[in-house]
Amino acid sequence: MVNLEGDSTVSRAADRIARELSSEHPDNREALRSMTEVLDYIRFNRLMCNLHGDLEPGFPTDGCYACEGNFTGKDFDKLKVLVGS
Ligand SMILES: [Zn+2]
Repeated sequence: MVNLEGDSTVSRAADRIARELSSEHPDNREALRSMTEVLDYIRFNRLMCNLHGDLEPGFPTDGCYACEGNFTGKDFDKLKVLVGS
């Protein structure tokens, strides 16, 4: 199993996004943008690769192609603001 709550950035971002979505006037667009950045962060840091290997034994998690691809940005500036505030 993967416990993404173990990563404080993911955990704090999830809390902030949940708070935004459950607010009286949620900014869905901003929440979606934040979620995209969190998902990029998860792929960039290979947080799901063990799960990929568990689900499909023999799956090559070194150079995992499931986590490759374009990222919205590798500096995660927005994410840093989201979890830091
Ligand atoms: Zn992977």
